[in-house]
Amino acid sequence: MKESNYISIAEALKMGATSVNLRGWVYRERKSNKFVFIVLRDETDIIQCVVAKSKNLEIFEKAEKLTIESSIKISGELKEDERAPTGYEISVSDLEVIQIADPFPITEHQSPELLYDNRHLWIRSRRLNAVLKIRHTIVGAIHKFFRNNDYYEFDAPIFQPSQSEGGATLFEVKYFTDKMYLSQTWQLYAEAGIFSLGKIYNMGPTFRAEKSKTSRHLSEFWMAEMEAAWMKLDEVTEVAKDEIRFILQEVLENNKKELEILERDIKLLEGYVEAEYPTIKYAEALDILNNKYQMNVPWGKDLRTNEEAKIADHFKVPVVVTHYPTEIMGFYKPPSEENPKEALCFDMLAPEGYCEIIGGSERSLSVEDMSNRLKADGEDPNNYKWYFELRNYGSVPHSGYGLGVERVVSWICGLDNIKDAIPFPRTMLRKAP
Ligand code: ATP
Ligand code: MG
Repeated sequence: MKESNYISIAEALKMGATSVNLRGWVYRERKSNKFVFIVLRDETDIIQCVVAKSKNLEIFEKAEKLTIESSIKISGELKEDERAPTGYEISVSDLEVIQIADPFPITEHQSPELLYDNRHLWIRSRRLNAVLKIRHTIVGAIHKFFRNNDYYEFDAPIFQPSQSEGGATLFEVKYFTDKMYLSQTWQLYAEAGIFSLGKIYNMGPTFRAEKSKTSRHLSEFWMAEMEAAWMKLDEVTEVAKDEIRFILQEVLENNKKELEILERDIKLLEGYVEAEYPTIKYAEALDILNNKYQMNVPWGKDLRTNEEAKIADHFKVPVVVTHYPTEIMGFYKPPSEENPKEALCFDMLAPEGYCEIIGGSERSLSVEDMSNRLKADGEDPNNYKWYFELRNYGSVPHSGYGLGVERVVSWICGLDNIKDAIPFPRTMLRKAP
């Protein structure tokens, strides 16, 4: 039979009672003296198939040999059956075995480490299939959001000659006879790009040698960044809120089925689309933490995970926190004029314990201030010569932010660990497969 005569399981389920040709993999199988029950899976869904001994002995004997993940083609009659997992069952009239799978190394109730060791096989699971589909929607939504709003896509090099987010998380690589670093952010190059294109965005792999083992840090992750000329802090925080709302909307429009598979609270996500997201200052955040929750966080300390979680929990929606202490912020985040101790920067914190999903700021226009702060960090300002030059050729206020794609995937999917938000995770302890 021609390959074009096969349809997907999702298409078959939509057609209802009819004869169909399907191909896929054995998701589950169960045998009795009279029947073989196969749950067939493809990229779209699962469906129960029944092979009756009384109907055709040859097919029954073939079906008896099937193992989990064997690849097969079947033809048969589809009929409604409320006992079947997706409401339909196929009475099989023909079966072609493509390959009998070896015993599958993943069975029920496996340790997380075994699942990560077998990631190349585990991405077939219904759960990861659902996460990857939602990730696909999120990535698409990010492109759509910026393109709809007249941003140009702009690419920066991955090999970079200097750091931009602190030396501690730099990955050094041999570059011919020299050394270079893997990109920690697209930002510095984006700040050059805006003088040509005005409003730009990008989504690309980002590398940080994160030594702390948290459920929110990968050493290779995807960051979606934007940068815009003329934009100030009050405007850029609104862009971030709009982007998050848009992403949520797109997922709710396209992935209800996947959210159900993940047992995600859809009503809660719908609420996030409608809600206003508050913007508060770091000082107000401390006020809430210290006075409402007796947490005792001194001014000048960065917010830790549990403190970020508390703030987002307090509002129960994504929250923008601005004006963190200048001293603990990156060299390019400018001090505010009214109070130089506070920087013109922001983080967006997601509720339900997911914490920071976006970090951004206005960008400093003072070469002197940036040089001093780099020196204080033990960096050589001479390495930033081209970057500082941007302040000498028609410098204008500008702002930007970076959104962690896997952080957003984790939150929207309700994942326990960020490692499940990307097909093949990389952390300090996990580098294979
Ligand atoms: P954190 O304090 O959580 O480490 P950060 O302040 O280092 O984050 P930024 O430099 O502001 O993060 O980067 C922008 C965004 O990129 C973050 O808001 C987050 O969503 C994402 N991000 C940063 N580091 C990682 C990482 N190691 N793994 C996954 N996502 C990350
Ligand atoms: Mg970090």
